[in-house]
Amino acid sequence: MATPSTAAPDSDQVFTLETMGQIAAAPKPYAVLGYPVTHSLSPSFQRAAFGALQIPAQYHRIETPAEKLPAVVAAMKAQQFGGWNCTLPLKIDMLGLVDEATETARILGAVNTVLNDNGRLIGFNTDGEGWVAAIREEFGVDVHDLRIMILGAGGAGRALATQAALEKCQRLVLVNRTTSRAQELAAQLAPVIHSDKLLGAHARIEAIPWDEEIIGRELADIDLLVNATSSGLKSYDLPLLPARVLSPSLLVYDTIYKPHRTKLLLNAEQAGARVANGLSMLLHQGAAAFSLWTGRPAPLTAMRTALLQAASSSL
Ligand code: NDP
Repeated sequence: MATPSTAAPDSDQVFTLETMGQIAAAPKPYAVLGYPVTHSLSPSFQRAAFGALQIPAQYHRIETPAEKLPAVVAAMKAQQFGGWNCTLPLKIDMLGLVDEATETARILGAVNTVLNDNGRLIGFNTDGEGWVAAIREEFGVDVHDLRIMILGAGGAGRALATQAALEKCQRLVLVNRTTSRAQELAAQLAPVIHSDKLLGAHARIEAIPWDEEIIGRELADIDLLVNATSSGLKSYDLPLLPARVLSPSLLVYDTIYKPHRTKLLLNAEQAGARVANGLSMLLHQGAAAFSLWTGRPAPLTAMRTALLQAASSSL
């Protein structure tokens, strides 16, 4: 009888439900699921992390359309994967497929990391804590100490706003093109961020309309501006905000990392602000996932080097 062919542990092949049977049982398999998933940078730095700590493991890409997610998860359980990451559009569905989920994942309604604990699937969401670590690394400040404005109330905006509220940041202003989504999120997070601390005339959390004049006025009382919208990914996207509403005292973080500098970041630099892109968030959400799988501190230097290399060759 012919034995099924197995893929090399560091294969750059993109697997599917139909081909993932080729992934060998050893060394321990891990994966990132997405649709599309071909350009995911996760394999570069997760493989570097396993390598740096000499943990025998393999990490693959599995292309997973949403309707095939239950079958892919069942196959990964059967093949005893140690865990996996998932990207868009699977994070919400993944929550319904795990046996238990952390409070953060439940509040967010989304799972980006799964640990397979001997057949019991535990769901986590490391996007928020990855962002907190990224802000600390990029700007040397804690989210807790900042007055923050977040642009966007989709999946990423929700994750960051929820984390900022859990961290009890000093002030949180939410802005979204569809204002009602920002208003709903602000109402949901008000009890989370609430404290008795009085901050003058300002509400601790509020949603404001996407209006340049209103945003400009609010930015006078903001330390950190974050773009969590998908606007800026495409070369034809207009700058989200003009340089004239930005100031040198602002820290500006864009969750987008490709392009390396969005038009928002270019305008912020022109205004004299300190800026950083989303690569550090990608790194730290992955580092948190690695620690959950292995119980070991993530080897950040090796991961960062591999990520920067992969990102520069994909730009
Ligand atoms: P969603 O599709 O869930 O949300 C998209 C958001 O962008 C919505 O708030 C939407 O507003 C807003 N938006 C879209 N187009 C425009 C526009 N032209 N002007 C203003 N707002 C706009 O996407 P995600 O939240 O999942 O992803 C958002 C971004 O976050 C992506 O760019 C992604 O690359 C980045 N990201 C980065 C990560 C990292 O590790 N660095 C991790 C996860 C995400 P509306 O509600 O009005 O439609």
